[in-house]
This record gives sequence, structure tokens and C-alpha cells, in this order.
Amino acid sequence: MQNSGKLIIFSAPSGAGKSTLINFLISQGFDFHFSVSATSRPPRGNEKHGVEYYFLTKQQFVEAIEQNKFLEYEQVYPGCYYGTLKSEVDNAINAGKTVVLDIDVKGGINVKQIYQNKALSIFIAPPSIEALKERLIKRNTDSMEMIQKRVDKAAEEITYAKYYDTVIVNDNLETTKTEIKNIVSNFIK
Ligand code: 5GP
Repeated sequence: MQNSGKLIIFSAPSGAGKSTLINFLISQGFDFHFSVSATSRPPRGNEKHGVEYYFLTKQQFVEAIEQNKFLEYEQVYPGCYYGTLKSEVDNAINAGKTVVLDIDVKGGINVKQIYQNKALSIFIAPPSIEALKERLIKRNTDSMEMIQKRVDKAAEEITYAKYYDTVIVNDNLETTKTEIKNIVSNFIK
């Protein structure tokens, strides 16, 4: 355990700019190991099995739960399961890597509780719910029904921000980039 790595948990309503910020951190040379989650939702756009997610059927997902394969899992949307596989995190942590988790608020709070000081939890908030809805419409990857589900979910998720170590409001992207880079650098140094 001497060489044990750390965990960074990112949670944000869908459309808050989380992927942009994580990609920015990668471009700055941070060497992250991404935990690939499992999900029972179908792939979106060009998403590939084993890259963005392990895409499982609902039955396969439930079997993995029964086999105790998850560190945490949640039904993030009604009927859609998402979960962090123990195998994705443990091996990397034991190898001294910085593991990045991109998970929902309930999962994020659970993982923070398990790993305590070894984990930094960051909540990325949109400037407003209206701004978030606009971004999701522009992204053009979801149906209006799914966008409304995500917007409703966002309003609920924001109420959990207070349980995170750090909350970053992504109002001005350039300012947010500097802020997040400093926070992550301080944690992993
Ligand atoms: P999306 O469908 O947009 O890829 O993801 C929807 C939500 O599921 C996001 O808030 C994302 O953070 C969350 N999510 C992705 N993987 C996991 C996971 O392994 N566990 C939990 N609890 N949430 C996850």
C-alpha cells in the first residue's frame, strides 16, 4: 500500500462542461487512469464498448451486482444503471496511479466515504439550469425527452454539491480551467 495512488471524483450535471475540463487536464500532462464504468444504457453516437463505458444489458448488469463486482452503482436515470467496477479502481490504485472517476453525485459521495483522504471530490456546477439546457440542446446528442430528464436530474444533483470537497462553477471556461488545474495539482503533488 506504500505506493498507493489517489482518486479524483468528478461529478457534474450532464452538460456542465465536465468532459471539456477533464480533457483540458489531460492536455496539461496529468497522467490519469480513467475508471471505465459499466452502464445498461445504449451507446450514444460513436461510443464504444470498453472505451466510454462497458455497455451491458440490464440482465448482465444485475448479474454483476450479484457477483459483488461493483464498488458502487446507481440507477442514475429510471431503468438505467451505472456502476464503478472494483477491478477498474483497485489495480490502478495499488499501482500508485491517479484514478479519475466520472460518476453521479450519489456514487461520488459513496466513493469519497470509502477512500476518505485518498480521494478528492470535485463538483462542477453550471452557471444556471437554463444555461445547462441550452448547452444540451446545442450538443444535439439526446432527444428532447432525454434532455428534459437530464435537466430535471441536474436540479436535484446540484443539491448534493455541498457534500463535495470542492465546488467549481463553470461560468467562464478559461477561469475554470486555471482553478481546476490548481486544485488537482495541489491534491496529487
Ligand atoms: P451519461 O449517460 O451522460 O454518460 O451519464 C449519465 C450520468 O451517469 C453522469 O452523471 C455520469 O457521471 C454518471 N455515471 C457514469 N458512470 C457512473 C458510475 O459508474 N457510477 C455512478 N454512480 N454514476 C455514473
